[in-house]
Amino acid sequence: MSQGAVVLFTEEQIKHRVAELGRAITADYQDRSPVLISILKGSAIFLADLFREIDLPVRVDFMSISSYGAGSEATGGVVRILKDLEQDIGGEHVILVEDIIDTGLTLSYLRGALAAREPASLAVCALLDKSVRRIPTLEIRYRGFDCPDRFVLGYGLDHAERYRNLPSILAVESQASLDEDPDVLREVLEGFGR
Ligand code: 5GP
Repeated sequence: MSQGAVVLFTEEQIKHRVAELGRAITADYQDRSPVLISILKGSAIFLADLFREIDLPVRVDFMSISSYGAGSEATGGVVRILKDLEQDIGGEHVILVEDIIDTGLTLSYLRGALAAREPASLAVCALLDKSVRRIPTLEIRYRGFDCPDRFVLGYGLDHAERYRNLPSILAVESQASLDEDPDVLREVLEGFGR
């Protein structure tokens, strides 16, 4: 498949890896009831699958953010909280669930904002890690896959709100051609029966 994108991680590979992450979290948080925090919208699909692989009385909460200005590199990761958590995380064991960490600036800012609420512990679980792009030092306790420095789509990740419902994760050959023609991946989508 090379009409503009290649499959980077298949549905089966993702399912297998998410189950492994769920088992690792279950083992590490025995006798505790962690709160998983998902940053909307990209990580919602990962959260939904991960959550069901954790055999603990786990809870979930959501946050929605938007970057100020042109993007995280331009703003040093400072974000505006559009929807805050519903619960107080003071004294709780918190796991921040992210779809992808690129420069790490957004996560670094968010981590600071959540740490200020004094949780008992705060860990990060990211499905994809574009580690070559990292700017600040970040501890990612649970990591799904290392991700090449390519624009990726599917399994929650979008381009202009599209493609989140693809079961696999695709690497786009040219983000510029996708920006120019949002339908450039039509043959790839047909391969998924969409
Ligand atoms: P960071 O602050 O780590 O540079 O940016 C992280 C955010 O950028 C992610 O939560 C995601 O929204 C977006 N992002 C980074 N790389 C990609 C990518 O390859 N594909 C998509 N769809 N979003 C990305």
